[in-house]
Amino acid sequence: MTNNLTCTDEKYNAHTCSEVDPFDHHHLWHPYTSLPPTYPNLVIERCDGVYLYTKSGEPLIDGMSSWWACTHGYNHPKLNQAIREQLNKMSHVMFGGLTHQPAIDLGKKLLSIVPQGLDAIFYADSGSISVEVALKMAMQYQLAKNKPEKNKIATTYSGYYGDTWHAMSICDPIGGMHSIYGNQLPVQLFTDKPIDGFESEMTENEREKLTQFFEDNHNGMAAFIIEPIVQGAGGMRFYSPQYLQLIRKLCSHYDVLMIADEIATGFGRTGKMFACNHANISPDIMTIGKALTGGYMTFAATLCQRYVADTIANSKYAALMHGPTFMGNPLACSVAIASLDLVIDYDYPARARQIQQFLQSQLSEVKSHPEVVDVRVLGAIGVIELNEAVDMPTFQRLLVANKIWVRPFGKLIYIMPPIIMTESEIATLCRRLKLTIEQYLGVSIG
Ligand SMILES: *Cc1c(COP(=O)(O)O)cnc(C)c1O
Repeated sequence: MTNNLTCTDEKYNAHTCSEVDPFDHHHLWHPYTSLPPTYPNLVIERCDGVYLYTKSGEPLIDGMSSWWACTHGYNHPKLNQAIREQLNKMSHVMFGGLTHQPAIDLGKKLLSIVPQGLDAIFYADSGSISVEVALKMAMQYQLAKNKPEKNKIATTYSGYYGDTWHAMSICDPIGGMHSIYGNQLPVQLFTDKPIDGFESEMTENEREKLTQFFEDNHNGMAAFIIEPIVQGAGGMRFYSPQYLQLIRKLCSHYDVLMIADEIATGFGRTGKMFACNHANISPDIMTIGKALTGGYMTFAATLCQRYVADTIANSKYAALMHGPTFMGNPLACSVAIASLDLVIDYDYPARARQIQQFLQSQLSEVKSHPEVVDVRVLGAIGVIELNEAVDMPTFQRLLVANKIWVRPFGKLIYIMPPIIMTESEIATLCRRLKLTIEQYLGVSIG
């Protein structure tokens, strides 16, 4: 075992090296990294508002909301209070045979804001698990209808649904994790990804191909799963509400359940409470997570329409076969209630639409750079796509030197700031991001 960390590597400039913890470096895995990692993990001591504070006390403006979750920023007094009050009553109690007010109150609040018809809720412990539960619901529904041959999940390319086994099997087979686990994964059905652009019209050809896909495969399809409007970790792509509307129509026609994964898009991020609202459709099953607790606790939920729950209940296997130890955790429920109150009272969808305008005016000039392929904005999400994959050690060093926190993947540099971020903070974040990109690419923008 070695605890020495060489700081002479040019990638670890003096600033970042002093921030790295040798134990962490050698013993703790971080998301999607080798151990030890190829570039440093910064030590963060505390967070407040839209700032992350490193060990040296240097504040970084947060451009990530900690992967969509911390939508109210950090250390929020209302959320802190909610969780403290619950802590004094009970931090946990099993959900098997028992229930509690935070779970009930959260359920009522959720049903008042989700797309019409969603009526039954399963509390899960993380996004990936809520996707697994959605897939189980779909399987049990088709079994209950005496259609055991409808046992595959259909989806589009370029999707991302989480890291557990079956969630992974529906992630993009090229960009996702199929290349490592290959034929160990269950075989699912994939169709073309939707055409680029929220404002784009669906072409006749695209409609025909999608319809044909359902015609050819519906006998084997339990469900069609999709991330509504925004494909997140599979490419940060936006697509037309018309596509969702056609999926809705085809699913209903062929008795295939439509699953909308709103884990990233939920709670106002795209400028509507849920991305499905852009298309005025209700899915049969919907997953939520990430911002559900404002980033305070790991928590998620799977919701379904009454007829899905009823069909399962009226079958030979009446029980839904899932039940995590920490199901309906009271701390998570109570902080989720406080988070939803903020989302509703301060109209987060409207705020995200405002942020969209700020981001559009700040980022559009980046498009003129020869190394930039595309700049796109929807709600409080801004994406800059480069010609080539970002060299992370170099880029991260520049980001930190410029006092912002952004985490690109591949060719994509993207920001999704906390919804509470002010116009001037967004201007600062964008200015520093543009400077970072200029320094990285070595050519000035605009
Ligand atoms: C993040 C994400 C998941 C997985 O959620 P975890 O909490 O990380 O398991 C699933 N679907 C989508 C669309 C996501 O963005």
